[in-house]
Amino acid sequence: MPPPLILKVSEIFASIQGEGLRQGEPTIFVRLAGCNLRCSFCDTKYAWRGGRDFSLEEIIEKIRAIRAHFPARWVCLTGGEPLLQRVERLVRKLKAEDLMVQVETNGTRYRSMPVDWYSVSPKPERYSYRSEYRKKAKEVKLIVTRKLGLSLVMKLRNEFSSTIPILLQTESTRKWSIERGLKILEEALQAGLDNVRFSSQLHRIYGLK
Ligand code: SF4
Repeated sequence: MPPPLILKVSEIFASIQGEGLRQGEPTIFVRLAGCNLRCSFCDTKYAWRGGRDFSLEEIIEKIRAIRAHFPARWVCLTGGEPLLQRVERLVRKLKAEDLMVQVETNGTRYRSMPVDWYSVSPKPERYSYRSEYRKKAKEVKLIVTRKLGLSLVMKLRNEFSSTIPILLQTESTRKWSIERGLKILEEALQAGLDNVRFSSQLHRIYGLK
């Protein structure tokens, strides 16, 4: 019998997916605590540390309780960086519950498990990510910081299949980030890059959780 699984969880809540191609879909979020990066623009700094110990059974019970009044089909593991922790059994259990599983990762860690949707978001300064995601990612999200430029978008466009969209996601609703994102999008278009898109955070626009 495997030892009990305990995960450090920052929060579990129901909302809509505010980012990426799944934008707008009802989703239950499991925010794992801890991150191996320290991005200056991070909007979930509270999840860098702490978190409460949850057993696998407690997480599943909490999700079942949420689904009793909010029967979303998708569960999104996010963070922090969710793949710092051993989430494989949680993912398998969610699949056994007939749920769809999304993982939002900065790409620096990879775990082999039956995930339906990897959102990969490499972060500055190095923008490093595990090569497995070149086949596994459903989308690549780049936060439009002051340092993001066309050369990085070009590099990633060459590394990922053009069927995988590269999303230029604004930093919250900041005007300069919106303007910069649109400028990079235009440059990408002029450079002939396929499947680069402008993207935003619905939950920031509408003040949702
Ligand atoms: S990788 Fe994500 S969670 Fe970690 S510090 Fe950067 S933005 Fe925050």
